[in-house]
Amino acid sequence: MPAQLLTGTPVVEELYTRIRSALQNLSPHTPYPTLAVLIPGDPSAQAYARAIRKHFSNLCLQVREFMLDDQMEEFDFLQLIKQLDSDTSVTGILALQPLPPRISKSTLSLAMPPTKDVDGVSYEQQGRLALGTPGVVPSTPLGGILLLQHYGITVAGRHAVVIGRSPVVGRPLTLLLLTADATVTICHSRTPDLAHLTRQADLLFTAAGRPGLVIPDMVKPGAVVVDFGVTVVGQRLVGDVDPAVAEVASALTPVPGGTGPVTTAVLACNLLRLARLWPEELFSKTKHRYIT
Ligand code: NAP
Repeated sequence: MPAQLLTGTPVVEELYTRIRSALQNLSPHTPYPTLAVLIPGDPSAQAYARAIRKHFSNLCLQVREFMLDDQMEEFDFLQLIKQLDSDTSVTGILALQPLPPRISKSTLSLAMPPTKDVDGVSYEQQGRLALGTPGVVPSTPLGGILLLQHYGITVAGRHAVVIGRSPVVGRPLTLLLLTADATVTICHSRTPDLAHLTRQADLLFTAAGRPGLVIPDMVKPGAVVVDFGVTVVGQRLVGDVDPAVAEVASALTPVPGGTGPVTTAVLACNLLRLARLWPEELFSKTKHRYIT
């Protein structure tokens, strides 16, 4: 029997319902949730910015956009972050990647104020995730976990194999899975005999950006496969997983329409989380874990 398709739309709808209800309950003393988006010239970043604008406007969340010039100097970037940090009308800050050439990822992680870090890029939030302490988590991997939760797929006690170790997807996903009591194997481009490891996965996640990397022979029959990969091939968006994997897996996220739409919805949840716990409660021991 072909795999169940784990589409993102119902997960997004569920999250939107929670966001709308949370917005209705906002205290009048809480600043209205406003996201500052820093947009570099890269076309993929601009496409993501358009998606954020559209989805946030549907939710009546405010977005303020700041274009980053390719020639931007580190000093000017730091000044901008500082200005947004002291602006009380800004709830969260998102710097889209790839950053301008003179701004390093470590500069971003150091400069991003943890209380406005909507996508978990600051060293503070990354450290929290590494320790399994509540905090704000990068939206793409958190979206993957929420997608599994939505479809009632158990993570605890299962063997999860993650392909990819980038700071935005593979690495935080590994830590989230550990916190959710999975046993995790992480693979990357230097992993010998990838298929030997992927065939052991109950839950197989891929975030390599390599179309067709995962073929049916690499998947244990009945495994759940979550594909974060997005690559433009001709006019189409394709994932890392060969569509024929649907004949072996029990469930599979499609590309497009799987993990992608959930990312933007989780970003909105993260913004709300920053707004609702604004700001001094953010780091207190809270019953909330990763999401409102
Ligand atoms: P990245 O920084 O290029 O990282 C890719 C990772 O995959 C690296 O760890 C790399 O290993 C590993 N890798 C590459 N080829 C491999 C191979 N043949 N075998 C095993 N591992 C391999 O990319 P990223 O930013 O994490 O993004 C990954 C994919 O997710 C891209 O397609 C991106 O467009 C997509 N993405 C999707 C969403 C979403 O919302 N669904 C959000 C963000 C990104 P090394 O570390 O050894 O180089």
